[in-house]
Amino acid sequence: MDNLCPVCHKGILTSITLPQQATHGNRHFTVMLEYSCCTYCGFETTTAEQERNNAALLEASLHNLAQAA
Ligand SMILES: [Zn+2]
Repeated sequence: MDNLCPVCHKGILTSITLPQQATHGNRHFTVMLEYSCCTYCGFETTTAEQERNNAALLEASLHNLAQAA
């Protein structure tokens, strides 16, 4: 099972989305970033796909900030 936790080998890595504070210059904003979290030990990681999604979300948020300015 490829979603097995690499730390405890007991839990399953489950996709979760959490609001994350980000800063750009003197602006603060919140983006919903995707993580994988172990159901057993709470280990958090991001997959390559989640990294891509998060980067795209951050870029979109920065773009919106630039347009609002
Ligand atoms: Zn674990």
